[in-house]
Order: sequence, then C-alpha cells, then structure tokens
Amino acid sequence: MKQYFVLPFACMALWGCGEQDQLTAPPLKMIDQIDFSHVHIRDNFWSPRLAKHTSATLPVCIDQIENQTGRMQNFENAAKGTGKHSGIFFDDSDVYKALEGIAYSLINNPDPKLEKKADEWIDKIAAAQQPDGYINTFYTLTGQDRRWNNMDKHEMYCAGHMMEAAVTYYQATGKRKLLDVSIRMADHMMELFGPGKRHWVPGHEEIELALVKLYRTTDQQKYLDFANWLLEERGHGHGSKGDEGEWDPAYYQDLIPVRELTDISGHAVRCMYLYCGMADVAALKKDTAYIEAMNRLWDDVVLRNMYVTGGIGSSRHNEGFTEDYDLPNLDAYCETCASVGMVYWNQRMNQFTGDSKYVDVLERSMYNGALAGVSLDGDRFFYVNPLESNGDHHRQAWYGCACCPSQISRFLPSIGNYIYGTWDKALWINLFIGNTTEVEIDGKKAVMKQETDYPWDGQVKLTVTSEQPLGKELRIRIPGWCKSYTLSVNGSKVEGTTEKGYAVIKKWKSGDQIVLDMDMPVEKVSADPRVRQNTGKRALQRGPLVYCLEETDNTKDFADLALTASSSFEVKDEPDKLGGIRSIKATSDGQTLHFIPYYAWDNREAGKMKVWVDYQE
Ligand SMILES: [Zn+2]
Repeated sequence: MKQYFVLPFACMALWGCGEQDQLTAPPLKMIDQIDFSHVHIRDNFWSPRLAKHTSATLPVCIDQIENQTGRMQNFENAAKGTGKHSGIFFDDSDVYKALEGIAYSLINNPDPKLEKKADEWIDKIAAAQQPDGYINTFYTLTGQDRRWNNMDKHEMYCAGHMMEAAVTYYQATGKRKLLDVSIRMADHMMELFGPGKRHWVPGHEEIELALVKLYRTTDQQKYLDFANWLLEERGHGHGSKGDEGEWDPAYYQDLIPVRELTDISGHAVRCMYLYCGMADVAALKKDTAYIEAMNRLWDDVVLRNMYVTGGIGSSRHNEGFTEDYDLPNLDAYCETCASVGMVYWNQRMNQFTGDSKYVDVLERSMYNGALAGVSLDGDRFFYVNPLESNGDHHRQAWYGCACCPSQISRFLPSIGNYIYGTWDKALWINLFIGNTTEVEIDGKKAVMKQETDYPWDGQVKLTVTSEQPLGKELRIRIPGWCKSYTLSVNGSKVEGTTEKGYAVIKKWKSGDQIVLDMDMPVEKVSADPRVRQNTGKRALQRGPLVYCLEETDNTKDFADLALTASSSFEVKDEPDKLGGIRSIKATSDGQTLHFIPYYAWDNREAGKMKVWVDYQE
C-alpha cells in the first residue's frame, strides 16, 4: 500500500524514510524505558499539571467513587453478598484505575493519608473476592450463575485494570495484598480458560497487557502464556454474547486472527489496548508476525485515520472507526482514552525500532488529544474531543461511563515514563521535559538533567553525569515537526549524523553541556486531500502544540475567519492567560485571528471553537 500522510508533515515523512537503518540490533524490543519513579519532573509546563493532579484530579475521582456514585458501595455490598449493584457493569474498573493513579502519585509524592485511603479501598476490594478467586461486583450482586457467559461484560477487562493497579501499588509501597487478589483472579481464569479448556474472547481488551505486567512482577511464565493464548483466540469464531445478543466481530477485533490484521477497525480504545498487549507479547515471545501486523496497523492508524491532535476514532456510533480519511471535526469522537492509548502503544513501537516517528505520534497525542481531556484546574474532563464546537460541548466533573477521568488520573502522574530509554549501546532522550533523573544504568549511577521551556520554546539543555563512563552514545530525538536545529556540546556545534530521527552523539563525557536549539516557527498544516472535511482549510501548529480558535478571543464574524497565504504570525507570551500560554496572532487583509493551544480550550466562557480554519490561497 502506498503511504500517504493524512497530515502531510513533510518533515515527519523525511525522518520516517530518509535515513538508512544502521542499527544491527534484532527487530524485537531493544529499548527499555527509564521508569518514572526515577524521574523528578521540575518543569514550567508539566509541574503545575502534576500539582493539580494531586490537589484536584485525584480528590475528584475519590469523591466520585466513594460519595457521588455507588462504585465503592458495590464492593462493600459484594463483600456482604447482599444489596444492589449500581451503575454500569464495568464500573469496578474506575476504582482500579483511580487506585493506579494514587499508586503512581505515591511513588513521587509520598502521602500517608492517601496511602491509607488506598489501603482502605484494597481491603474492601479483597473482601469482595469470592472463594474461588472470582472478583467482579456486577455479577456477584446480580447473579453469580450468569458470570463468564457474555464475553462483552468486561469481566477480564476489570480484572486487567485490577492487575495494573496491583502491580503499581506493589511497586509504590511493597504491599502485596491487591497483588495476591490479582493472582488468585488470574489463576481462577486460567482454571476455566486455556488450551484444552473453554474458549474466551475478551470483548474489551486490557487483560492481555495486564497479564504481561503480572508476569513481569511474579516471574510466572504461565501469565505470559495465558496472555498469548487470549490474543490467539481472536478471529476464530469463538466470540459470543451468550444468550444476550449478537456478537459483532469487527467491533471486538475478532474478525481475523490478530497476526493477520491489516486495518484498524471497531472500537478505538479496544484496538489500542489490543495492540499494546500484542507488542508486549511479541517482545517477550519474539513473535515477528505480530510486529509485522503492527507495522501495517500503525500505517493505517497514523496515515489514514488520525486527527492532527493525535486523536483517533471518528465515530460516536461505535466509539471507533468508519472508513479511511473520514475525519469529521464537529462530530469527531476522539475519546480521551484513545489518545492515552496512542501514547501507550507508540512507546512500545518505539522500543522495538528505535524510530522517532513513533515518539512524534506519542508526543502529538500527549500534548493535544490527551491533555485536552482534563481542565486546567484538573477537576473536569472531556470524554469526547472534537476539533470544532458550536459552543455546546464542555468538560464534565464525571461521566456515567467514567473511563476517561480515571484514565487521566493514572496517565498524568506516569508521564515520566516517556522521557528516556536505555539500550546496551545508547541512552535515548525522547521527550523534552525539565527533570532530574537519578538511575542506575548497567549498574552505574547516572544523573540526567534537562532544563527547558518546552513546548513554548525549542531550547533544551541536557547534562548526563556518571561516576564511570556509561559507554553509550546519546540519541536525542529531533521531532518530526522540527525543520531546523543546532546541537552543541560544551559550546561547540555538533555536525553529527541522525538515525531514525535521532541526533547521535558518540563522543561525550560526564557533565558535558549539551544544548539542542530547535526553531519553532508557526506552521500552517494541511490535511491529506482525501480528508474531505478539511478541503480548503489549514490548522496551525507550533512545536508539538496544535492551536485552535475560540469565539471568546474572536468575537466578530467567527464563521468567516480565514487564514490566507499572506497571513503573518506573531507569537505572544501570555503568562496570565489560561495558566500561561504562548498564543498566536495571525494577521492578514484586515482580519486578525487569535489562536490558543488546543489543549486549553473550553476553560473560559462557552463559545465556538475550531482547529481547521478556512484558507484563501
Ligand atoms: Zn474513556
């Protein structure tokens, strides 16, 4: 299939295919992340957001779970074996995801009160576990005889989120109560399902990647094997809703075996979790057919089905995909969880290949599609992230289906995971976020430090210090959006090579001052011509940030605003606006347009918004 970019960023294409692959490493996983527990973020852009996460986002989730909805009551009722189940059948998962968010938060910000809250929750969860290891409050309270009957009832999905929370909480505190609950649930599932036992196709993926985490934590190969078995169950006609309706194989990624996949289809978040599970299993099982499938899928997602914001899934109807190049703006779905899923999946793709094009997408989804999911105050959330609004779309404090708020609660505190990677020959610098990171690499103590005002400014100062030489080259990502940059070591310009979108510094020593200076002009972006909704339109992007127009800044003739070939741009530093932004003023032929970063929209009075703006040649 010929490759087109839905978003024809020439620079992105250049880095993707212009360089020879000079790496001789095997095609499977070669890069390990440096996990965020070592990464202390001190950053003008992200630190205030992390502060809001602890002061607002987590308290909102806790209040909703304990007081405003029946989520915690469901566990209490299930433990007693009496009472009603309230809410939706997969509501347990929000408790687990918020718990995972708490665990992440505790690692870098110890808080005895918060830890006590988590322990309380874990006691209640453990008490709701059935003698055979089963845990799911919906079926425990509505009819145990009906469990493991309908594959779309998210029993394994909830179990997977419990495992992720359990693993993280164990890492954060060393406490293994929830881990033991998870192990009992995993063993319960493996008694029922597996080779020579019952078939099962989880309607909503998640368990697969979670089982890999359980495997890594317990070193029990059987959990990895079970994850692999579940992936291989797909596409063989085993899916079923029991006596509760028709199973739609495309919606559930159950049309063909996963190793034969070529196109993304169905529900966007399910796809992302599936691909993460496939990537994890492929890395450990050395299954190249999975990787080949994922390469095909990545092209399909990024070149034909991704919004400029890094969001995916255009249709509200199936919370997912329609046909290629169908990217409506007003009706865009772009679930927050799907953008976060893009971050998870693209990191894994980068780890296989050492190719920066995956981090380009990760960064695009993170700074735009995902970050828009939470208000500047940290207490309101988008589920749906359209690229245009008539003024009637607003963040809410919570949702009946609350996957997105709980997703944000666990995603934000983990962003330190995406900054650095290591490999036997290289140290990778993927994202530009002010931080000090202390970590052992191959048994040698190392400290990495970044100072930057990214994403507002393209200068990044980096030092790596270590007592003994690390014996690794530095690979510094040159983002796809960046067309011009200089790189220097101790003030001397480096004219080095780039490989797969990374500037490679082979000669350096501990304490060297490395400075990357990226030009960050305002860029007019056009969509692939086959995206009919964006014909004759342009969007603005500066650095990794996509911009939009809000009515409140552009009160006159909002519908008639247009960019022109002669539009001139002025970038304005506005420290008091929207938590501190750089806005863009576009001037042409008597019209002045005021743009703000997309992530910051809908934080003031209600009004219209658009990313794609009419363009006059
Ligand atoms: Zn969601």
